[in-house]
Formats: sequence, C-alpha cells, structure tokens
Amino acid sequence: MDLGIDGRRALVCAGSRGLGKGCAMALAAEGVAVTITGRDTAALDATAALIREHSGAAVTMAPGDITTEAGRRAALDACPAPDILVNNAGGPPPGDFREWDIEAWQGALLANMLTPIMLIRATVDGMMERGFGRIVNITSSAVKTPNDKLGLSNGARAGLTGFVAGIARQTVGRNVTINGLLPGSFDTARIRSNMDYVATQTGKSIEEQLAERAAKNPAGRLGNIEEFGAMCAFLCSVHAGYLTGQNILMDGGAFRSSI
Ligand code: NAP
Repeated sequence: MDLGIDGRRALVCAGSRGLGKGCAMALAAEGVAVTITGRDTAALDATAALIREHSGAAVTMAPGDITTEAGRRAALDACPAPDILVNNAGGPPPGDFREWDIEAWQGALLANMLTPIMLIRATVDGMMERGFGRIVNITSSAVKTPNDKLGLSNGARAGLTGFVAGIARQTVGRNVTINGLLPGSFDTARIRSNMDYVATQTGKSIEEQLAERAAKNPAGRLGNIEEFGAMCAFLCSVHAGYLTGQNILMDGGAFRSSI
C-alpha cells in the first residue's frame, strides 16, 4: 500500500534507538524526510547512516535533550515545519511511589506529558494551515492497564492522553490527527532497564524475565521495533485521516478485553 506521504517531513523525537528509531526507519522507507533527536550523538549518527542506507531518504539530526527548552528548540530549528510529529522520550524510572519526591514527578511530567504538549503547541497550527498533519504520541500500555512499578509513567502518560483527547477533536477538521501509540512489551533497552530493577528486587535475571514475559504473551514473544514503526507510519499516512483521538495498543493481546 502506498501510504501517500512521500516528500513529507517528520520530526521523530528520541528517534536514535528503540521504538523511535523503528518509527523513523518506517517513515523514511515511505519517502519521508526525517529529523531524529537524541542525546547521544554517536547513536544518532549510526541511526542516520542506517536510515540513509536503507531508504535513501533525507535525514537530519538534532542532538539534545528533548525535555529541555534548548533541546526542543534544536529539534524545531532542524525541522521547523513538520508534517508529521512523533512525540517520544525516555520513560521514567520504576520504583515505589513512596520514593518519589516532587522533583521525580516533575521529571516524569516534563518528559512524558509537557514536552509532547509543548511540541504539539509549536507545530499544530502550521499543520492546520497547510491542511495536513499527523501527530503520534508514543505512550505506553500503562495508559490502559497500569503497571505497579511504573507509577510515574502511569500518571504522566494519563495526563497527556487526557489532554490529547480534547484537542484531537479540534484539529481533525483541518486534516490533522493526533493519536497515541501504546507499546506493550517490545525488545528494546528500555524494557531491559525496567527488568534490571525487578532483578534487584527479586533476584530474577533479565533473561529469565524476558523469557517469562514472552511465554505469558498470547503472541508468545515480545514485539519488535519494525512492526511498531509500521503501525506508526500507517497512522501518519493519508489513509488515516479519519482516525483521531485514539489509543492504539500494540501488545500481542496481553491486555485482555473484549473491546
Ligand atoms: P529505548 O530503546 O531505551 O530508546 C530510547 C530512545 O529515546 C533513545 O533513542 C534515547 O536516546 C532517546 N531519549 C531518551 N531520553 C531522551 C531525551 N531526554 N531527549 C532525547 N532523546 C531521548 O526505549 P524504547 O523502548 O524505545 O522506549 C521509548 C518510549 O516508549 C519510552 O518512553 C518508554 O518508556 C516507552 N515504552 C516502551 C516499552 C517497551 O516495551 N519498550 C513499553 C512501554 C512504554 P539517548 O539516550 O541518546 O537520548
């Protein structure tokens, strides 16, 4: 299927590794010029080279911390008028809520709620004026089914989801959609760092936890960044203009519900 986005421009935040990289690769494969952000310039360089090799698409890099004003400015300087915005950043640490002071909460809210909102604010009017825009917020399955150890994530992402539910209805009339893409268990560095925490609590190794997680999942495995990227690219396609304010859960069926 031709996704109809050849020649569009995308800003993919936290696109140097993991799920963001999967999204950047899939968009570039459709002919989208991508800007990727991340703090580690070596990882950014490597992913930019890989994208160019695989797709020949134009890639620019915006090194920096997307949760800071300077990082967001660098991202928007590199991609001033994106047609596609993929909001993403590292997830907050796991732990017990009794350990989290106001600074811990402010960090989580900044990364996983306020930074996406600031980037939507900076880009959505231009998208509406141009009559095309696709915004995908990478959140978490925790939005639908909270994770006991990830209270900071449960809270911050729920805030973003609530905000988006309101504004998505105000932009779709100008062909700008805003949706959440909710990863369950994907095999990336993030899931391993969460499991590292569980290992310190239970003594269960990361490899044991990965095997258990895969065995418990109805799909019998973890997800991979290529399939996550493909779904993101579809949400950014011309075919998805009537799909907005939704939260698409990709978890191999782990969350059991009828609808
Ligand atoms: P990952 O493999 O660890 O990759 C994280 C990416 O984000 C890297 O490119 C990293 O690059 C970048 N990044 C992190 N903090 C950043 C910042 N402040 N500014 C700019 N870039 C930043 O993680 P992932 O699995 O792709 O996870 C992506 C998001 O999905 C996270 O919020 C995570 O909590 C959420 N999630 C993941 C899963 C899963 O199963 N993997 C499940 C639920 C939710 P640098 O470190 O170089 O900056």
